[in-house]
Formats: sequence, structure tokens, C-alpha cells
Amino acid sequence: MSQWPIGVFTSLDAGLGVRMDVVADLKIPTIHLHSPHHGKRDEAQAKDFLAQCEAAGTTVSCIFCGSDGESYADIPTTVKTVGLVPEEFREARAADARVTAQFARYIGCDTLGMHIGFVPEDRQSESYLDLIKVTRSLLDDLAEHGQKLHLETGQETAEHLLDFLTDVDRDNLFINFDPANMILYGTGNPIEALKKVGKYVRSIHCKDGIWAKNRGVDWGQEVALGEGDVDMRLFIETLKEIGYVGPLTIEREIPEDPEQQKADISQAVALLEKLRGEILES
Ligand code: MG
Repeated sequence: MSQWPIGVFTSLDAGLGVRMDVVADLKIPTIHLHSPHHGKRDEAQAKDFLAQCEAAGTTVSCIFCGSDGESYADIPTTVKTVGLVPEEFREARAADARVTAQFARYIGCDTLGMHIGFVPEDRQSESYLDLIKVTRSLLDDLAEHGQKLHLETGQETAEHLLDFLTDVDRDNLFINFDPANMILYGTGNPIEALKKVGKYVRSIHCKDGIWAKNRGVDWGQEVALGEGDVDMRLFIETLKEIGYVGPLTIEREIPEDPEQQKADISQAVALLEKLRGEILES
């Protein structure tokens, strides 16, 4: 596959991605998939999905873990409900990620993505140390099957994410870099962050956003690609600088308005194709 194929974040029954008919209509060659709901990840369902991919002419490069009960309603709710971080859900989420990993194997996909949650600041705290233990155990299981995990950025600063990767100390743990999340969560300048964590970046989301007035307290606003504060040209130039060659996977999180979502993705494809051509030639 040539450098920087276009991708899109896709959903079947869960998550905020686009539906497969959009992937087919826009002839998108690669996708990230949000894990289907609990009970919808068996072998027959995986085969059915693979047939849809084949019909659409696309391949899956990453499957994102997602569990029932996670909510991104506001930042405090996200802290309490998302990922492996909330202690009351930690074991159940790790078990659910293993089910998603099996679903990914049915599909022939070696990469899982995950919002792990807001990693505790205190690296000596019991909660942090247990999180390290649970994450390692999951990674070791994935490694047995030749699979890896990409952590989604945004809920931590780049520095804290690097600390976490160092502390987990496993060679199948990488980063899915989402520049808009750094803005939406108010965790730092996305381009500076990308340079800092660049060597771990193995997948990305092309998503845009506008800073909140109250950074880190209120959500910023997710907007169509090219209309936010990311600076997509500089983002793609920086991807070139760090040596990233994988898919440019567009994310547009407005499933409540499928017409607009499709229009925005179509416009994002055009923008990325233009930038890709210009930046690869320069
Ligand atoms: Mg993302």
C-alpha cells in the first residue's frame, strides 16, 4: 500500500463513526472500526463484517475497544466511565478488550486501539501501579497472538503519556495520535505533542477541533477537518517529519446527522488528497 492511504473511522452499531455504506460510496481504502456492542463480536458476525468490507473494497487497519457504560458526555463523566482507568470497571474492561481482540483476530486485524482513560497523575499511587499491571497483562495476551495496542491520545499530556509507556514497558504498546483530542481535552498543542511522542505513533486520526474557553474544564468543539485549530497542513508535514507512513484515518463524530457527516468526510478526503500530494512532492 502506498504512503498515507485515506481512511475513515467506522461504526457498525456502537461508537460515533460513519456507516459502511459511506465507506463504499466514497471508496475509502482503509478503515478503523469501533468495536461492536457486547454479544455482537462472534466469529459469524466477524465474517459478515468481512464480507461488507470486501464489498466496499476496504481493509481494517485498527479495531477500537469500546464498552457499554462508557460516556463522553462531559469531561468529569469521561474521567469516571472511560477505559481501564476507572477502578470499578478495570477488570471487566480488560476482559472486554480480550473479546475485542478475539473479534479482531477473526477479522485478521493485528491492531487494537483504546481510550485507556485519564491516567492517574501520581506514578506511585496504588491505582496507577495496578493500572500498569492490568495493562501489561492485556498486552502480554495480545503479544501471544501477534497483536498490539495503540493508545488514543488526548486524555493526558504528551509527557505523561510517555511516562506511562515507559512504565508499562512492553514492545507492543504504541500510540494512535488524534490531534483534535489534545485540543478538545485541553491537554496541549497537538503539533508539539506529536513531535514529542512521534517514535511511538503507529496510527492517527485526522480530526479537527476548536479550543474551549475553559481549557481542560469544558470540552472544546469538534468540527469538520480544516475548520478547526489543528492546522492540518502542519499536522501532515509533521507526520512526514516523524516518518509516519500509515493511513490518514478521518474521524468526524456527528453520527446524529449522517448527511452532514458524509459531506464533511467527503470534503476531508479532498483536503487530505490535496495536502498529501503537495507535501509528498515537496
Ligand atoms: Mg480519535
